[in-house]
Amino acid sequence: SISRVYADANERRPREYWDYENYEIEWGNIINYEIISKIGRGKYSEVFSGVNMLNQQPCVIKVLKPVKIKKIFREVKILQNLTGGPNIIALFDLVRETNSKIPALIFEEVKNVEFRTLYPKFKKNDLQYYFTQLLTALDYSHSMGIIHRDVKPQNIMIDPFQKKLRLIDWGLAEFYHPGVDYNVRVASRYHKGPELLVNLNQYDYSLDLWSVGAMIAAIVFKKEPFFRGDSNFDQLIKIAKILGTDDLYSYLKKYGLKLSKEYVEVLEPYPRKAWNSFVTENNRYLVDDDVIDLIDNLLRYDHQERLTAKEALQHRFFTSLD
Ligand code: ATP
Repeated sequence: SISRVYADANERRPREYWDYENYEIEWGNIINYEIISKIGRGKYSEVFSGVNMLNQQPCVIKVLKPVKIKKIFREVKILQNLTGGPNIIALFDLVRETNSKIPALIFEEVKNVEFRTLYPKFKKNDLQYYFTQLLTALDYSHSMGIIHRDVKPQNIMIDPFQKKLRLIDWGLAEFYHPGVDYNVRVASRYHKGPELLVNLNQYDYSLDLWSVGAMIAAIVFKKEPFFRGDSNFDQLIKIAKILGTDDLYSYLKKYGLKLSKEYVEVLEPYPRKAWNSFVTENNRYLVDDDVIDLIDNLLRYDHQERLTAKEALQHRFFTSLD
């Protein structure tokens, strides 16, 4: 299957734009940067808060763990292509430790407030504002031919005092080429789209929109994460218990896929659950017909049925003021 939008975003750009394997990194000077404190660690990196000694500008230093050089090239090329785009974390520089040659990426810093503290305080207008920012970043990235593939709260930095949102961690991002088979071992379990769980290799930008839907549902219904699987296998079961099995089977049929044997043995027929059944005393103030319709149009098994980032931005939930 081929993306409904931006399918030729890479083919119409010069080869150097997307051919990340054949390009040479220009290294900056590491002595310009000083580490101040450790702020995070990921699977692929250790992250520090730092400062550029030339202009005293604060920055974030992401020191990469040893991974395939190809993966580093991809992350760097993607960041260079997207830097300057709306709400995309800006890559300032790229340096190497003198002896070890370990690479480090230098980014703009966001004074992030942890999502577990921030999201529970969101009102409808905060949801409208921050998801507009996120969808703008995604529509831009998609228009540039790039799928993020790891959209989740941990990768969205928000400074609520400056009302600044930045999409970070482009380490799993990939260039989209129509008809190419992609690795389904991407994204983090709770935010993995059904395509990844049923081994549909020809996915596209719409993968990111599933993750956005799962995030919005989690905030609106105060159920974090919205789909909590104990394993990749269980993740699809958790989705099926809500979206129902009928639509799952039509999805599989449409793309000529079969569930693996382990599923056939345990997957009972589940009806589709009404979105309103997630409304409680505690979340009622965030729920209205518009947000339910938005969630309903993002959390679709069939990736071709999901709203695109641009369509989502034009949804009534974002355009209505009250
Ligand atoms: P993962 O294991 O999630 O893939 P990773 O190794 O690819 O992580 P990042 O997600 O890029 O690394 O960064 C790890 C953490 O460092 C982030 O979750 C965040 O808390 C912090 N961080 C990274 N970049 C920034 C930034 N520009 N501003 C503020 N904090 C940041």
